Amino acid sequence: MRCPQCNHPDTRVVDSRHTATQNRVRRRRECERCKQRFTTYESIPPRLPSEVIKRDGSTEAFQTEKLHRSMRLAWRNFADDPSEQDKRDRLYQGVLEHISRHLESAIGTEVIANLVKDALRQHDPTACILYASVHEKVRSFAQWQNLINREKNELPPGARKQQMNFELNLGEDSAEESS
Ligand SMILES: [Zn+2]
Repeated sequence: MRCPQCNHPDTRVVDSRHTATQNRVRRRRECERCKQRFTTYESIPPRLPSEVIKRDGSTEAFQTEKLHRSMRLAWRNFADDPSEQDKRDRLYQGVLEHISRHLESAIGTEVIANLVKDALRQHDPTACILYASVHEKVRSFAQWQNLINREKNELPPGARKQQMNFELNLGEDSAEESS
């Protein structure tokens, strides 16, 4: 790590602490030459389960890309606002972090789905419903109604008042597999 002040290659770590919420290490460093102090943040890649147990009992390799794709699908109907992208990245990282707290080497699809729904529900109830609809392969009007009613009850009291703008998009990609 080079000194940002004088570009000297040797810096000394004076303090190091782990921030659990963001899963990264904050380090205070000091330049050996000019004594300038600065802070670095290094993320620790989350330790993830190696396998996912599907509903039928079969297993497959845990793929972060698949998880990311299933969350992106839930957002597909929303405008691509860059500030939203930031929030979405944080939500995705948050889900990964929760998954990494799961100590077994295999994790059930339902456990993952519940973590994703919890994360989405807090910020965007509609995206949560869209995600659940893909996960549960919701097709009929009655299934949509059940899902929406169930989700209404899951919402935190403050958010329940919020109007749930909901545009159904029953296009082809609703059928896409999520796990
Ligand atoms: Zn220096």
